[in-house]
Amino acid sequence: MADKTLVFGHTNPDTDSIASAISMANLQNEIGRYAESFRLGNLNKETKYALNTFNLSEPMQLNTIEPNSKVIMVDNNEFSQSILGIENADIQMVVDHHRLNLHTAQPVHCIAEPVGCTATILYKLYKQEDVVITPRIAGIMLSAILSDTLMFKSPTCTEQDRITAERLSKIAGIDLYDYGYKLLEAGTDISDYNADEIINIDSKDFQYNDLKITISQINSSNLEDVFKRKSELEKAIENKINKENVSLYIFVVTDILEANSQVIVLGNRT
Ligand code: MN
Ligand code: MN
Repeated sequence: MADKTLVFGHTNPDTDSIASAISMANLQNEIGRYAESFRLGNLNKETKYALNTFNLSEPMQLNTIEPNSKVIMVDNNEFSQSILGIENADIQMVVDHHRLNLHTAQPVHCIAEPVGCTATILYKLYKQEDVVITPRIAGIMLSAILSDTLMFKSPTCTEQDRITAERLSKIAGIDLYDYGYKLLEAGTDISDYNADEIINIDSKDFQYNDLKITISQINSSNLEDVFKRKSELEKAIENKINKENVSLYIFVVTDILEANSQVIVLGNRT
């Protein structure tokens, strides 16, 4: 067990964090390195839909980490978005598509590219290692790209993401747009969530000197439905601001059909 590598994405995992952890652990195993994927939090409905579609099981939740554990970080590189104690882990590798904010004691194998999704980078690693992508792995990687790029509509989406998604959809044997819409739609149902759960679906903390900034985002197919609950949401946000000393809280609601967003911004730094 000692040389098992733990692979995980960020806290409040989204589909890319889960898909990339699963795909990266699988790639490691295929090239003879013992690795296992984990999640740092509960899965959202979109990710559950993707895992069900491709008949993959949820990664186990990781609650604590021993010092010097071997780790591969995917879909994030900031300790503030990772597990407590990550700074004492033995980080073997980082694969990510976000801004870099990584300080390690040892040199680290870091693959960071300005593309729309971590899974797009992983696709290239599979090719480099000459490992066959199975239909189920292709399906979950495709889900990550569709999710992160909002079906190629996000400003972060690149030609590489589009080409990779098309190739993966052929391997997975599914229609890209038909599946993509169902996937995104599955993630927009917030009817049985309370305000607190809604603001935590995809929430990330950033530390800038002494400022703590939280950015939270949800997808919707009907913005009006979400903003009907505005006062309830604002109360939950104010609560989090007071409890966790947040300087600036940005809550973004993205319309998956129009690919535009409305935001609620609160805090003493607005
Ligand atoms: Mn992510
Ligand atoms: Mn991502």
